[in-house]
Parts: sequence; structure tokens; C-alpha cells
Amino acid sequence: MVIGVLGAGQLGMMLALAGIPLGIKFKFFSPAAGSPGSLVAPQLTGSYADLALLEQFAAEVDVVTYEFENVPVETALHLAKHVPVYPPPAALEVSQDRRNERALFERLGIPTPRFVTASSQDEVETAVQTLGVPLIAKTRRGGYDGKGQRRINQPNEAADLFGALGGQPLILEQLVEFDRELSLVAVRSGSSIAFYPLTENVHRDGLLRVSRAPAERLSPAVQKTAEQYVTAILEDLDYRGVLAVELFEKDGQLLANETAPRVHNSGHWTIEGAATSQFENHVRAVCGWPLGSTESLGFAAMLNLIGDVPSPDGEALRAALAEPGVHVHLYHKAAAPGRKVGHVTVVAREREAREQRLERLTKALRC
Ligand code: AMP
Repeated sequence: MVIGVLGAGQLGMMLALAGIPLGIKFKFFSPAAGSPGSLVAPQLTGSYADLALLEQFAAEVDVVTYEFENVPVETALHLAKHVPVYPPPAALEVSQDRRNERALFERLGIPTPRFVTASSQDEVETAVQTLGVPLIAKTRRGGYDGKGQRRINQPNEAADLFGALGGQPLILEQLVEFDRELSLVAVRSGSSIAFYPLTENVHRDGLLRVSRAPAERLSPAVQKTAEQYVTAILEDLDYRGVLAVELFEKDGQLLANETAPRVHNSGHWTIEGAATSQFENHVRAVCGWPLGSTESLGFAAMLNLIGDVPSPDGEALRAALAEPGVHVHLYHKAAAPGRKVGHVTVVAREREAREQRLERLTKALRC
């Protein structure tokens, strides 16, 4: 069994690391040479528009998946003529365009922040009047990690908004004063669906910094509601694989913000903190195999390493490794501002111990 993966970043690397012990081989396809995935499996390097190379790739693998949701839909559809592609390319069409995503939420009765689309500065002005301020404007396509977004606190701050965000189609949405951000990582194989416990996420400058799982003070009713929303999406798309949905919680109510048709940063804690990791479960689902237990094994927290790469013989990494229950994952990427270069997970039997270790790790690694 060979799984072909579109994209070869750290998510691909961690997928292969989870699937190799199950007897599976991996092959990556990516436009960028030397990516983290290529450390653990061979890679075809070329353009996503190179149909001949895609056909060669399809001939060398049994099934195709992705670790990156901005793979062109045409690429996935072309591959699907030759080899099964999971999750279905329709899931890419949803997640690549925020309007499609919001339209799906609305069609399935899933609450989402109020929004208006705008394709010109005139439409921006109308949207600002309709929604009022404060609001958040986002490019419909291509934004990630807080890029392609702008907050508008006063109507006059929207005067140059359309040009400032690159003259691309936008959605403007009400700024939600949420109590916290949550995500639900789900996996579907055939008709069986499994959910990890809701994870609580802290973002800074649009980037995920810390995840805690299970989310603090997690009410079973909120977990159940999130599962109902995500089940509706999985069934509607006849989905196979891991799907992550980001949610805002406000006064016990959930609003859906975003979907990711792939393994997700807020699910990295599952490698050591759950009975079966999101990576292994994605591999199992793509192969049509039974899913593993998604039960959590204690109190887990994941800290992203952003920007600087800790030196392998430096103090910071040693201090982190000296903490009990800590696992370090470096992605072999060069340092760059705002770039995710690794993560650290801590799993403890008690919440208090998890919090103390997390605090020491945050200081040691200057996160
Ligand atoms: P996104 O790319 O949509 O995930 O947005 C990145 C981050 O911006 C989110 O994780 C939130 O912290 C924040 N954000 C996005 N949309 C909203 C909103 N409508 N109201 C408040 N904060 C938001």
C-alpha cells in the first residue's frame, strides 16, 4: 500500500511517521524540494499543473490524500480520474473559499458569524453599513495564519480596505467577542465517525500558540453540539479522513469559523495525548480501515515553536526535555518570522501538573 500525499510539509512528515509502522509506504508530491516530508519518504517535485507528472504520481500510489488545503482543486480532480482521492475534492472547494464554507454552514443549519461578501470598494462600504463595526475582513481565498485579514474598528478604517487586501474578493464578518476558541478534530472511515475531545486554542497575531485538550471546563452538551455540527458536514460531503472545524464559544453557544480538510495543528497533542493520533486515524480512514480510539490519555497541552529554531545543543531544548511528560517535535525547517518550526507536547495525569510544566516550557522556549 502506497499513500500519495499532496504537499510535503510537517503535516505530511507526521502522517508518514504514523503510517510507516502500519506497513504503508508514502510518496509526496510538492512544488518545493527539501520539505520536511522528504526526510521520511521519496518526493516528486513539480508543479501542481503538470498533468504528465501527476499521472506518473497516480501510477506510483494506491490512494492520494493532502496535507495542505490550497492544492488546486483541478489537481485533485485530475488525479481522481486515475486513483481514489480522499478527502473528496469537494471538501477542498469548501475550505478554499470562505464564502463556500459559510454557505455550507448555513445550509446545514450550523451557526456562523454574520457576514457579507464584497468584490469592490463600493461593496465594502455597503457591507460596513450592513454589519456595523467592529468587523473583520478576510480574503475569500488564500489566507492562512492570520494573513489576508484586517480588523476594522471604525468605519473610516475601511476607506482603502479593498485595495489594501490586494483587490481580491472578500468576506466581511462581525467581530465575535468570543469567550474562547475551540476546535473539533473528527475522522470518518466508511460510515463510522470518531471525535477527539474539543481542544481549546489560544492564538496570537493570527497564529495558534497553545492548545489544551480536553478543553477546560468542557460541558458534555457543548461537545455534543460540536459533534452534531461536524457530523452534518462529514455526511454532506461523504467525507473520508480527518476534518478539523474551528469554532468560537460565546455564552455556551458555538459559531463555526473555519474547516480544514486535513490533519490540523490543534490536533498535534493527539500523538502522545490520545490512544490513537489524528495522523494514524487519517491514514486508517484513507485506507478504509477501522478507526482507532480517540480517547484522551490525560491532560495534554501543545505549544507551537514559531520563528526561531531551538539549537539541538542549546539550554532551551535541554530544559524542555528535562520536564517529565514532554515530547519535542522539530520540523527541520529554517527559522523565519511567523513560521511554525516545531511543537512541544506535554501530557500529565493532573491539570495542575500540566499547567506548571507548560509555564516552565513557555519560559524555557521563550514562546
Ligand atoms: P481565521 O483565519 O478565520 O482562522 O482567523 C484567524 C484568527 O482570527 C482566529 O483564530 C480568531 O482568533 C480571529 N478571528 C477570525 N474571525 C474572527 C471573528 N469573526 N471574530 C473574532 N475573531 C476572529
